[in-house]
Parts: sequence; structure tokens; C-alpha cells
Amino acid sequence: MNISNRSTDLNLIDPNLKEKALNILKTVNGIINQSSELNGLSIDVFEALRTQERQDFLRNEGSSRIKRSKHQDGKAVDFVVKLNGKWTWNTKDKRVLQVYQLLGKVAKEEGLVWGGDWIKFVDMPHVELKD
Ligand SMILES: [Zn+2]
Repeated sequence: MNISNRSTDLNLIDPNLKEKALNILKTVNGIINQSSELNGLSIDVFEALRTQERQDFLRNEGSSRIKRSKHQDGKAVDFVVKLNGKWTWNTKDKRVLQVYQLLGKVAKEEGLVWGGDWIKFVDMPHVELKD
């Protein structure tokens, strides 16, 4: 994956979403830290604001199915799970899946839409502002 154009800067997104994203990081990582079962896991911001060029790239690669994403308006953030410091999308690992589900729960408590609830294209790291 070409990650050179990936932005994780929360200062470039909608301020309302920035605040919610910071709450999510604090809450989810706080819960993880109190669970010995989830030792070695954490979440972090993987991508925030996205350029059209990168959206086109992701679409061509199959990582995204749409022409225009809420990431391009600063209204979406992807949180990816880290296992022992390395990014992981491996939801076949039950502990990793548990953290993504925790992310979804906390994101919804913050009033956000969680991509893990989508039917056609499940996107567990993705959260976005409601329309
Ligand atoms: Zn996303």
C-alpha cells in the first residue's frame, strides 16, 4: 500500500470530529489498558484528511469503492488497531476483532457512524460524522 500521501493530522479535519476522535483514542485505549486480556493492543489514527489523488488510488486498488469519500471533506477518520506496535486489520484474531468492536461502540456513543455496521463494504476502522 502506498502510504506516502496518508495524513493523520487531526488539525486538518472538522473540529467537531477532531474532538470526538480524541475522545475515542482516550476512551478506547483507556479501556484496553485496564484489560490484561488486551495486552499489547491499542488504536491510533491511520488516516484523516484525504486528497482526491489518494482516493482515486485507493479506488483503483480496491480499498475503497467510491469516487468521493467523507475523508476528503475532513468528516471521516480511520482508526487502525496496533498489535505490539504494528498496524493490523486481522479481524480473524479475536482480540483484534474485539478492539475494532470496541472502537465501533465508542464511536457510536460519540454520535458517529461506524463503517463496521455497513453491509456492502464493511469498513471497521472507519468512523464519520452523520449527515
Ligand atoms: Zn475511512
